[in-house]
Amino acid sequence: MDCLFCKIAAGEIPSNKVYEDEQVLAFYDIAPAAPVHVLFIPKTHLAGVRDVTAENATVVAHIFAVIPQVAAQLGVTDYRIVSNNGADAGQTVQHLHFHLLAGRELGAMG
Ligand code: AMP
Ligand code: ZN
Repeated sequence: MDCLFCKIAAGEIPSNKVYEDEQVLAFYDIAPAAPVHVLFIPKTHLAGVRDVTAENATVVAHIFAVIPQVAAQLGVTDYRIVSNNGADAGQTVQHLHFHLLAGRELGAMG
């Protein structure tokens, strides 16, 4: 499959890694929207939140167990987690990912 984040997960395209285990990869966003901007992806391909089911949600639970560990490692206590799903929401990469944004006052969501 021609998927950018599958290629990053496989190491075929380089990334600035923050955390990695068998199921999850976290790496710095190439175009940071905040002083700290990290992406968390499952290594298995899911197109977005729309692909999450009762059967595969364990990887999402795992990502959410990793997020606070990585946040602590990066020294941030206040942060926002965002997952854009679909074009109108601003999703540009069709592989499930969670943005961790921190390091400035983030303001209202829109
Ligand atoms: P979204 O727009 O929610 O689909 O998020 C996709 C994110 O991936 C954007 O914030 C991009 O800046 C980021 N991105 C795109 N290509 C790369 C890359 N090669 N390495 C790291 N982040 C990337
Ligand atoms: Zn993928």
